[in-house]
Amino acid sequence: MLDSLGKNLSNLIKKIITSTSIDKNAVEEILKELKKILLQADVDLKLTNELIEKIRKKCLVEKIPPGLTLREHILKVVYEELVNLLGKEPASLIGKKKIMLIGLYGSGKTTSAAKLARYFQKQGLKPALLALDYHRPAAVEQLVQLGKQINVPVYFDKNNDPYKGAKEGLEKFKNYDCILIDTAGRSALDKELARELKKLGEIIKPDEVLLTIPADIGKVAGPQAKEFNKLVGITGVIVTKMDGTAKGGGALSACAATKAKVKFIGVGERLEDLEVYNPERFVSRLLGLGDLQTLLEKAKEAELKPEKVEKIVEGKFTLKDFYEQLEALSKMGPLQKIANLIPGFGMVKLPDNLLEKQEEKLKHFKYIIQSMTPEERENPSIINASRIRRIARGSGRPESEVRELLDQYNKMRKLMKSLGGLKGLQRGALKQLAKQFGFKI
Ligand code: GDP
Ligand code: MG
Repeated sequence: MLDSLGKNLSNLIKKIITSTSIDKNAVEEILKELKKILLQADVDLKLTNELIEKIRKKCLVEKIPPGLTLREHILKVVYEELVNLLGKEPASLIGKKKIMLIGLYGSGKTTSAAKLARYFQKQGLKPALLALDYHRPAAVEQLVQLGKQINVPVYFDKNNDPYKGAKEGLEKFKNYDCILIDTAGRSALDKELARELKKLGEIIKPDEVLLTIPADIGKVAGPQAKEFNKLVGITGVIVTKMDGTAKGGGALSACAATKAKVKFIGVGERLEDLEVYNPERFVSRLLGLGDLQTLLEKAKEAELKPEKVEKIVEGKFTLKDFYEQLEALSKMGPLQKIANLIPGFGMVKLPDNLLEKQEEKLKHFKYIIQSMTPEERENPSIINASRIRRIARGSGRPESEVRELLDQYNKMRKLMKSLGGLKGLQRGALKQLAKQFGFKI
């Protein structure tokens, strides 16, 4: 089972980050692709459409917040919508007493039950473990051993009766702060397991039902989660084995199918290897935005110098300033360097000409600007058709490219103006974006 969902998502984000320009059409393309990815991941059609509509509205209908480019904005919006789906808040189970773990065979139920017991212990609470998996021969013994490691009592029925075990266990541990209940899992959700789980749910009346799904499970997590949800309403998801290379894309399918949110992340085999779900970390990884903070810090270096700010606010953003901006951008190491900051991304070979094209263009723009008179550079509005011809000849570049440069300059100037006011600029677009992602820079 390949986590193609996670891979597809990070490919899409890669595309957004590296495309030369993002306009309305590009946004539509991105939305089309996102829709395809979500549908392939078995995210419900209605939910997918709602999500896409929301993103479209935020990017194309509503005004983009000052200080953000369309590229930054769409990244932010996609990120936010995924967080909405997977969970906004770090989880807390404090105050929940009966916590049941369910999931398929090998998904990490038994390990996670013990990890959670350890987690509660660290919070100063008194946890107990209840072993109700009597289908797998060594399951009870596995939990008993894990309980021993952390000094947490484990109860099980000696005659392998899960219902009796449940009733007696709950009674025995009634004075404990919380009871972690390990259940049976099969390689598929067969009828016998389904019946057993349903009945156990009725007996236990759990305060919390956590579905464990391994990070590499992919879209089958969706229908599976739905089935489990029907038997015993799922209240949360634990994504296990996130210490591997898989990105946990299946969580998207599981959460979409059940409206449950991700609560914990398993990051290893040891009992300490459990993390409370953190939306920034989880979604950034799912999107392949590995080292987003470094990326944003780098990007910030390319931001406007303070002395330029005043000029720009007054609308006096000259071609010379524009050229400096282009250069600052290229210093950031256009694309490949940025790409390298994203784990796994640097290894992917971007189409050569994409990077070269950017660098080439910058060079050509330089020739063109050098062929202008100082007056033209300070006041590009005086550049008419005959001046364009002259500049083109002087720089050895086609007239169309001179026009393209002027066009890009004008767009940039307009954007600068629309940022409105010193304050907006000082705050810095990327800084704001970083804040949205929960980073302090
Ligand atoms: P169960 O059948 O659902 O109870 O699954 P287990 O808890 O027995 O786990 C199955 C295997 O996955 C065991 O070898 C665990 O050590 C391993 N495992 C569970 N959670 C994690 C995790 O977060 N990371 C890693 N690397 N292995 C895990
Ligand atoms: Mg087990």
